[in-house]
Amino acid sequence: MKAAKPDTIATHAGSSPFEQHGMVNPPVYHASTVLFPSLAALEAADANPFEIYNYGRLGTPTSHAFERAIAQLEGGYRAVTVSSGLAAITTALLAFTKAGDHVLITDSAYGPARRFANEELTRYGVAVEYYDPLIGAGIDALIRPNTSLVYLESPGSLTFEIQDVPAIAAAAKRVGAVVVLDNTWATPLHFRPFDHGVDVSIHAATKYIVGHSDAMLGVLNCTEAAFDVVKRAAVRYGAAAGPDDIYFGLRGLRTLSVRLKRHGDSSLALADWLSRQPEVRHVLHPARPDHPGHHLWRRDFRGTSGLFAVLLEPFAKHAIAAMFDHFEVFGLGYSWGGFESLALPLDPRPVRSATRWGHDGPLLRFHTGLEDIDDLIRDLDAGFGRLRQAVS
Ligand SMILES: *Cc1c(COP(=O)(O)O)cnc(C)c1O
Repeated sequence: MKAAKPDTIATHAGSSPFEQHGMVNPPVYHASTVLFPSLAALEAADANPFEIYNYGRLGTPTSHAFERAIAQLEGGYRAVTVSSGLAAITTALLAFTKAGDHVLITDSAYGPARRFANEELTRYGVAVEYYDPLIGAGIDALIRPNTSLVYLESPGSLTFEIQDVPAIAAAAKRVGAVVVLDNTWATPLHFRPFDHGVDVSIHAATKYIVGHSDAMLGVLNCTEAAFDVVKRAAVRYGAAAGPDDIYFGLRGLRTLSVRLKRHGDSSLALADWLSRQPEVRHVLHPARPDHPGHHLWRRDFRGTSGLFAVLLEPFAKHAIAAMFDHFEVFGLGYSWGGFESLALPLDPRPVRSATRWGHDGPLLRFHTGLEDIDDLIRDLDAGFGRLRQAVS
């Protein structure tokens, strides 16, 4: 299926029905022990543990099917499945660093990634420095001879800055630093990391790939040069994912494209409606022409997903609570990427250090689900009504 287009790859990648009695989907292998018919066969598996199954933690036909599908869909050599998106991030951060190294992390990075870098990496003698997500080629001035890893997240999943990935990757390559990108927002369908100089593409598959808010799963998709380092590290850390959760990831991939289209289209309609509310100062949606960095999104991305934010005028907490406590369709909770809409009031200030977050009001983040757009707008409209009433 070399020449196939993304939708076709997503539909078929990683499947081999005639190796499993013609059944369309692969079986879910629940495995710890793998038995060998002879000592020679056991030794052969030990000598080649990433190709020949030898213990459940190292891989099963279920994890390999998911990894083949991800690598085929996004490009990349091979993928490594781990137990959560955060486990994928920490695996990458540990695998490519040692005492005395320097790492550069975007100021827009997912909060728990920052916490891991600040509280764990530093304990092992790694210097952690944050950079302005909009720095582009200017990152060259921050690169040191001992910079071993440059970490990106584009767009940032809280503040939605679009990074100039190829420019940053080119600067990192000058000193041989590995380029790690959290590609969760775009999914393997909307941004092609390996065409832009990325070495390791991370997905919190928990989000759009699983797509139904019912599993935790992470994956690191790697270039050939990065794969061995990442796989060995993941095996040493013991961060294997459970087979049922991996199966949910593989099943989610089959419908990712149609779900994303709906998430994306509805998110643009919601963003448009929100932009016309007097309490909304700015809309942060990468696919809107007024978004800072929109030209980079147009240059590098193939489509939009459904996660975006708006910056609200400052309001007292009780007014925000009046809005959020009584939504009927939007759920109040962490995560995103599932079929159901979510909304959260957030403050980016505690998770910035290289840049100052200048906005003094709340940031409202929306994950646009698959509900009817009229019902979503009606729910938001009622929420804004409660907000206005609370301050009148
Ligand atoms: C949720 C998220 C993660 C972490 O994924 P988990 O599976 O929840 O551990 C990483 N990066 C981004 C951008 C996320 O939104």
